Amino acid sequence: MVEPIRKSTREEREQWLKEAHYNLFQLKADQVYIDCLTDSGTGAMSDRQWAALMMGDEAYAGSRSFYDLKDTINRITGFDFVIPTHQGRAAENVLFSALVHEGDYVPGNSHFDTTKGHIESRKAHAVDCTVDIAKDTQLEAPFKGNVDPEKLDKVLAEHADKTPFIIVTITNNTAGGQPVSMANLKEVRKIADKYGKRVIFDSARFAENAYFIKTREEGYADKSIKEICREMFDLADAMTMSAKKDGIVNMGGFIATRHDDWYEAAKKFCIPFEGYLTYGGMNGRDMAALAVGLDENTEFDNLYTRIHQVEYLAKKLDEYGVPYQRPAGGHAIFIDASRVLTKVPKEEFPAQTLTIELYKEAGIRGCEIGYILADRDPVTRENRFGGLDFVRLAIARRVYTDNHMNVIAAALKNVFDRRDEITRGVKITWEAELMRHFTVQLEPLG
Ligand SMILES: *Cc1c(COP(=O)(O)O)cnc(C)c1O
Repeated sequence: MVEPIRKSTREEREQWLKEAHYNLFQLKADQVYIDCLTDSGTGAMSDRQWAALMMGDEAYAGSRSFYDLKDTINRITGFDFVIPTHQGRAAENVLFSALVHEGDYVPGNSHFDTTKGHIESRKAHAVDCTVDIAKDTQLEAPFKGNVDPEKLDKVLAEHADKTPFIIVTITNNTAGGQPVSMANLKEVRKIADKYGKRVIFDSARFAENAYFIKTREEGYADKSIKEICREMFDLADAMTMSAKKDGIVNMGGFIATRHDDWYEAAKKFCIPFEGYLTYGGMNGRDMAALAVGLDENTEFDNLYTRIHQVEYLAKKLDEYGVPYQRPAGGHAIFIDASRVLTKVPKEEFPAQTLTIELYKEAGIRGCEIGYILADRDPVTRENRFGGLDFVRLAIARRVYTDNHMNVIAAALKNVFDRRDEITRGVKITWEAELMRHFTVQLEPLG
């Protein structure tokens, strides 16, 4: 599908921002020129997906579209048990309702915000064991999404009896769309086995992760994406999936596992929260489109085209000297705001400030993946400034052209060139207790 986009003036955008309490989630999409808020559910479906949509079987129970989806997932991952859900966080909610309890520890690489939310709202601890090199945004390393095996082993040595599972997010979104190597997944498996623990992959961008393994890790150049996917999932016990990412559908998700005890435990929560077991939260037609999307997006050419577009934007930013998490991530560029707005104190949220400036400049909507998103520490209620402060420019799949990338880069350059004039950020005037970035209200300072 293509759609027209609308130009606006700086005055209009300033007014709209004010009405949105300086939170870009609260803008109307019509007020946005190029939308890089997220790559979630924003991709364009293919001809084959639209054709499949027309063939959806809407039977309440036992729909053909469910079995087609289940077969596709089984072929790609090897998992026999599948529960569809309305999106990724619903998969987390269903599975974690069965597995996560108060006082538990859930180690992994950087947990996604909803994943962390579902762990912390159950009064359990999400322990981030990402490798330290992920914090050095200027370092070029192929797998900055990896789990640090020593950190993981330490958490398990102390809390194995309180650890329901290990969760590995592929790719590691919070660290900048950075992949996890096959070697690292194997190490995680070894540590899990040592302590008798199971491993879940938070798999929203598993196909992009497989692409990076193929193109960056020794021994994988001649393997197909599907072969690599299978090898990855052979190292896991279950997956939660936001199909809105690498499934290239507008809404959907699922849980898949090889263990019938986990399936039985999750079933109990699927029916009251999501729906009957063969549709969970999804329409038959959406399951049909998802089955095709998963199949298409585990082919090399599709991934190559997409990831090259992200790399194209990165090259433009290199020309202009704009610092971002290197190398470019799979689905997005993560601008290192602390290196751009060096005069804005962290208490005034530099990345959010940069997001606002970029919108004012050219109507481009990015997303803060930084100190606001990090929420407060559940115990001390202090802001968490320990991580990175990024502006994420997510690129929708099969939507924009490289010309749009040129506009994004030029707008960022304009802001970058006047970075030293930006000395004040924003303050929070209202916030929710958990996942505050979606609804936070802000006011500019100075
Ligand atoms: C998007 C995402 C989720 C949550 O999925 P939704 O479909 O947005 O509910 C979980 N984990 C990761 C890594 C994601 O990218």
